[in-house]
Amino acid sequence: MSERMLAQFAEHLDQLKQTDNYRSFRKLHHQGAAIHLDGQKLVNLASNDYLGVASDEHLQAQFLATYQDYLPFGSSSSRLLTGNFAVYEMLEERMGELFLGRACLLFNSGYHANVGILPAICDGRTLVLADKLVHASIIDGMRLAAANGTKCVRYQHQNLTHLETLIQKYHDDMSIDRIVIVTESIFSMDGDATDLPALVRLKATYPKLILYIDEAHAIGVRGQQGLGCAEAFGCIDEIDLIVGAFGKAMASVGGYVICHQMIKDYLINTMRPLIFSTALPPMNVAWTAFVLDNIIGMTAERNKLQMRHEHLIMHIKSLGFECPSDSQIVPIILKDNARTMRATDELTKQGFFVLGVRPPTVPQNQSRLRVCLNSTISDDEFTQFCHAIGQLT
Ligand SMILES: *Cc1c(COP(=O)(O)O)cnc(C)c1O
Repeated sequence: MSERMLAQFAEHLDQLKQTDNYRSFRKLHHQGAAIHLDGQKLVNLASNDYLGVASDEHLQAQFLATYQDYLPFGSSSSRLLTGNFAVYEMLEERMGELFLGRACLLFNSGYHANVGILPAICDGRTLVLADKLVHASIIDGMRLAAANGTKCVRYQHQNLTHLETLIQKYHDDMSIDRIVIVTESIFSMDGDATDLPALVRLKATYPKLILYIDEAHAIGVRGQQGLGCAEAFGCIDEIDLIVGAFGKAMASVGGYVICHQMIKDYLINTMRPLIFSTALPPMNVAWTAFVLDNIIGMTAERNKLQMRHEHLIMHIKSLGFECPSDSQIVPIILKDNARTMRATDELTKQGFFVLGVRPPTVPQNQSRLRVCLNSTISDDEFTQFCHAIGQLT
């Protein structure tokens, strides 16, 4: 690359630095649920390990001790070539049973799922209506679908009245066969929960609707068995595509969709990130199945998480901060980029690792601390944390 080109990139990076939007990796050292940063031990309130599974060394030891079968750490190819191992089908069957006998298809990540499903199921006669704040992976899926002639429109965040107005506008359009509603059950930045039963009612009114719900932050955490908000609301059967990720509360890696068997077959035939990418390490898929069986019974952890969440929200609101959260993801919206970064430093000094989130991940003037609660934080740590928030400048 020429000096001139490098200078162009450098200039863009400088702009990011000037607006407090520059990103870089941190040198982290993990110890159980805690994190070491520059020699200081911090309570980790930034991880997606909501139930403490990733830091549970006992569980890992149990897995390694009981898993006698030899499974490789690499699959060597796509499942459609030589990469299909029995363990994938075992996990798909287990997921299918839990999700009321529907079909399950695994993907390499939640990102793969979202970037691949929309382009596979949408065509020039499909309309996608997506919540304004959906995850970047869904946006990329829409961009790819749009390249195939799919019309994509965003509705105001969680505004189902706006959504219905858009549905009415397009539903009788003869050039549209299907309308895919895409949203998240728990939003990754605001932590707010979606009214899934209301979406199910819309579907009952408008026959062209298909519901596509991303449960990445709800799997493990919501529902009696931790299957997500669809389970909690009793609408597993009504949601056409339930997408999720195993990398968060499930402490593994991979993505999945729960859908009709016909749609599964269709995706296997048309979904490019599934067809053209090497399948997950079989050993890791066995771990996912093991975690799944364990997580079903983690009701006490789920209840504890819920209690912490209620307590923290009350506290934050009493301090006068805005907080839209209904879940373990609790944003404290400070608005200003520099103030947000200062607040993360202040919390670090108090022994808490919390990340600041800035544009473009969130809209302009919506910078926030993004607290991710987990069920392993002790009562003392939690009390100290609430105190530390009260001291923010
Ligand atoms: C994390 C996340 C994804 C991506 O899942 P990965 O398995 O990490 O690729 C997709 N959707 C949402 C809402 C997420 O938060």
